[in-house]
Amino acid sequence: MSSLYYKSLNDLFAIKVNESELNTILRICIDAQGNETGGLLIGHYNDTHNCAIVTEITGPSTDSTAGKTWFYRGVGGLQKLLNTAWRRRHHYYLGEWHFHPGASPVLSGKDVAAMSNTANAPKYNCPEPILLIVGGYPKQKWSANGYVFPRKQKYVSLELDNGE
Ligand SMILES: [Zn+2]
Repeated sequence: MSSLYYKSLNDLFAIKVNESELNTILRICIDAQGNETGGLLIGHYNDTHNCAIVTEITGPSTDSTAGKTWFYRGVGGLQKLLNTAWRRRHHYYLGEWHFHPGASPVLSGKDVAAMSNTANAPKYNCPEPILLIVGGYPKQKWSANGYVFPRKQKYVSLELDNGE
């Protein structure tokens, strides 16, 4: 498995997920045993602020709950993780990821609503949260979609670009 690189057609947004973070995501998906799961994307932006570089993945917090087609992301322990990421290397909340087991990685209406909330909530201090959705079967055939949710705008679907 290699890294994932997504970008918008207008080149205003991009996401880079390196191999080790991608492997962490796939391992958490396998551990979920057919249920949805997910967590946070932590990292930083490049110097020109058009590419989010994911450097840390969190899995479901202990207060998260999930079924085969739904996932409620809890908040337990996440602030502490974010504080540590900030203190150690000035990395921060970039967005979220979750898993659609055995299904396509296309975002649902609920996903759009949740991410738009995050984009517009001052407490996240994240005007352009990213959503990465993994779908399919993490051990065999999976795929992933990337989206960005600019505050007060329609979300943007990102294109997978593995030329990077
Ligand atoms: Zn979803």
